[in-house]
Amino acid sequence: MIIRPSIRNNFFTNAHPEGCKITLENQINEAKQQEPFDGPKNVLIIGGSSGYGLASRISLAYGSNANTVNVSFESAPRGKRTGSAGFWNNVFFQHFAKETGNIHKDFLGDAFSPETKELVLNYVKDTFDGLDLIVYSLASGVRKNFNTGETVRSSIKSLGEPVVGTTIDIASMTAYELEVLPASEQEVKDTVYVMGGSDWADWVHTFGEAGVLNQGFKTIAYTYIGGPTTENIYRRGSLGQAKEDLEAHAYQMNQKLQEQYNGEALISSSKAVVSKASVFIPQLPIYCACLFDVMKERKIHETILEHKYRLFKDMVYGEQRIIDNKGRIRLDHLEMDPSVQEDVTNRMEHVTKENLFSLQGTKDFIHEFFQINGFNIDSIDYEADVDIDEYVTKYVPKDLQI
Ligand code: NAD
Repeated sequence: MIIRPSIRNNFFTNAHPEGCKITLENQINEAKQQEPFDGPKNVLIIGGSSGYGLASRISLAYGSNANTVNVSFESAPRGKRTGSAGFWNNVFFQHFAKETGNIHKDFLGDAFSPETKELVLNYVKDTFDGLDLIVYSLASGVRKNFNTGETVRSSIKSLGEPVVGTTIDIASMTAYELEVLPASEQEVKDTVYVMGGSDWADWVHTFGEAGVLNQGFKTIAYTYIGGPTTENIYRRGSLGQAKEDLEAHAYQMNQKLQEQYNGEALISSSKAVVSKASVFIPQLPIYCACLFDVMKERKIHETILEHKYRLFKDMVYGEQRIIDNKGRIRLDHLEMDPSVQEDVTNRMEHVTKENLFSLQGTKDFIHEFFQINGFNIDSIDYEADVDIDEYVTKYVPKDLQI
């Protein structure tokens, strides 16, 4: 089949396996250029098929020579469907990571479900000598409540006043105003249920009760704080409420883990990067475009891999932690530097729908948005026929062929 980008409502409905392979290998090569560090041996990652979870998995597998187990919700190719980018990322991670000589296992399933937790727990019990780290890097718009059978949806909304901001329509390459309305109480509650910390705590509790957490066990989840230009829609919006809940769960778990394992529950505030959700948050694409320009000009830009590698090497397992007054690891300190924020704010004031696409940062943003789905890779001929079955036969492990 010919695989050209197929975008519906700012969402890629397909992925190019060869493109995902190249992007994944590039990230692994970045990790290999970094200095190894003494870190965890056995790691469970929830949401390790893309974005920050994938960068965490690669950093730990290559940086601290860890065994990794990943739980993600991705679709395998079927009929005319190419399979999701995250599916191929899992496949190619397994393919390349054979060279580490360690164990790397993927579970495709709903992380919120008790069955998935049970399945993963049994695997960990049978395979490892306990877990040293759980990374919780899940980003989801829905969560099924397995007690009631209800499907709960999160929303990207403001609190109090509506917020209008510009975003990009990727398919037509146009900018448009996106208005988000204030969330109702129920919508806030639902967003907290989906994107807050309760499922993270369930994972840690399930594994703790089963006695498979090692001395010195750590767990970490990722929050976002952001600056003045995004606060009305993010930190002071429904998503911000969910992040507050995530952070509160870290605080509660931290005390227990310290007592029981001399362990830790950590929150890292990470920088804004391009992800599947970026274009659904008004102002965020413009903010990212200006931020990327500022950080690149100041030579403080990090790739997603470099960012997470530094987190684990320097801050989680190293001696260079930067902590704020709420105990959060401030990996985002470069983004949040007041002079960076000031520069970004000034630039954003001069961005119009007309000049937006001529900014280098916007070009980089869009380029990366395509690349996370395996597109816009120079060496690939996107008019050439792709035999998906051949990729499946050659690369897909038997236990991912569902
Ligand atoms: P992403 O969309 O790239 O990855 C999300 C992961 O969650 C994928 O592996 C996906 O398969 C998995 N997932 C989703 N629903 C699932 C389910 N029901 N069961 C199992 N797996 C499921 O997201 P990301 O941007 O890497 O975000 C990860 C975390 O980092 C989120 O908590 C996000 O808020 C946080 N964060 C992101 C940014 C950013 O700029 N992208 C910045 C700071 C913090």
